[in-house]
Amino acid sequence: MITRTEIASLPVAAEVDVLVVGGGPAGVAASLSAARLGVRTMIVEQFNCLGGIATAGGHAHICLYSEWGSPRRVVGGIPFETAQRVTSAGYGVHNNHEADFEIEGMKKVLEEMAEQAGVTLRYYTLFAETIVEDTRVVGVVVQSKSGREVILARRTVDCTGDGDVAASAGCKFLMGAEDSGPCQPATLMFTIGGVDYDRVRKFRGTDYKLKSVWKQAQDNGDMRPFQNQIMGWWWTPTRPDQVGINFTHINFIDGTKAEDLTRATIEGRKQAYECIEVFRKYVPGMEECYMISTPNTVGVRETRRILGDYLLTKEDLLAKKTFSDSIGYGSFFIDIHCVSGPGMDQKTYRPEPGFKYQIPYRILLPQKVENLLVAGRCASCTHEALGSLRVMPQCGVMGQAAGVSAALSLRTSVSPRQVDVGSLQSLLREQDCIVEESDIVKANT
Ligand SMILES: Cc1cc2nc3c(=O)[nH]c(=O)nc-3n(C[C@H](O)[C@H](O)[C@H](O)COP(=O)(O)OP(=O)(O)OC[C@H]3O[C@@H](n4cnc5c(N)ncnc54)[C@H](O)[C@@H]3O)c2cc1C
Repeated sequence: MITRTEIASLPVAAEVDVLVVGGGPAGVAASLSAARLGVRTMIVEQFNCLGGIATAGGHAHICLYSEWGSPRRVVGGIPFETAQRVTSAGYGVHNNHEADFEIEGMKKVLEEMAEQAGVTLRYYTLFAETIVEDTRVVGVVVQSKSGREVILARRTVDCTGDGDVAASAGCKFLMGAEDSGPCQPATLMFTIGGVDYDRVRKFRGTDYKLKSVWKQAQDNGDMRPFQNQIMGWWWTPTRPDQVGINFTHINFIDGTKAEDLTRATIEGRKQAYECIEVFRKYVPGMEECYMISTPNTVGVRETRRILGDYLLTKEDLLAKKTFSDSIGYGSFFIDIHCVSGPGMDQKTYRPEPGFKYQIPYRILLPQKVENLLVAGRCASCTHEALGSLRVMPQCGVMGQAAGVSAALSLRTSVSPRQVDVGSLQSLLREQDCIVEESDIVKANT
């Protein structure tokens, strides 16, 4: 823990009302929602863009805005606004379920949204340590080309995905599968060009995941057995010859360790190039395909889950639980990739059409510290609940609630733990969020 004397010796780079650490789907929604309520808001981000996995992680597909297996939309607010804005800017397409987009276009749109809301962006800046006075978080130490600096904040929102701020503040967390230990595998996304996607579609027919191709390639010694199915082909009509591929699988990675992230990236890149060779040899329409890019960062599905005032569980999801402190809905299937090899884990669960559950505000409140919220992948839930909760619309739902709560708590001079939940929900509705059933009805009429 950093001492008072050390903190006093560091320059103060900024003093803000709301500091959001991490500019992914959760951080974008947290910062925009707070700034739109008129408080001075800053995002600290280690890379040079907003969007997190959607941009720096190379994953040009967001889902699910609707109930599972149904067109009824259950997510509004900033997550859905982002889908609409990227479409109207001509960089993608969306419907009530999902959005597909060009990564560079998404970066531009998110920066425009941040600029219009008045959010201050601080790129190329790595969070280093949390400053805690008694039990209150009062800011952070950051490290960048400018050196080691302090950013003071009246409220802080941890949107790092990994819960870096909360962990540094001493908050308790869970990590990995409760019974077996490891986290879900990491994936390095990659984008390829030179694809005749209509021919690919025709060839793959009902075998969307090309399972037979990978089996044949492995039997022939053309690739190692690191994976046995495509996890996602992300294609947008605005770039018809390009496809984003979710395929590489790197197990036993601790995404909070630089050495593991390095190993995962190098192995992921090897796997991506192996995959391209197989595409060229085995898949009609991909004979000429080539690598366009691997992203800034390997995609990490799971690390710390910060223990909050409530722990969301698989049982809550399957019971389609409602909560008096609902901040919105989740609806994605319980999507767990095999924690020890290729393919999917047995814990994966595909629910019946119409599946959805409410997300309680309390999962954003880390135990025993004040003035700190967590939102996104690092919120308080079990390994299995995270399988559903981790997708981008839901990270945005949590981010928006955290940002609104941070602003409301300043307005009413209470800590985020004490905000009036009814007022929080009203402000969320004013920002077009869907909080409960009557909002779903309104959004779908
Ligand atoms: C391979 C893969 C496929 C996926 N598929 C889908 C899908 O099809 N649909 C879907 O909706 N979701 C999908 N997801 C899930 C989803 O992308 C993530 O769970 C979601 O992006 C998490 O949002 P977040 O804002 O919590 O974190 P992130 O998106 O990880 O963003 C965190 C941000 O914080 C920054 N940051 C982290 N630590 C620091 C630090 N110490 N200092 C400064 N900045 C920091 C990062 O650079 C990043 O920009 C997928 C994830 C992966 C990895």
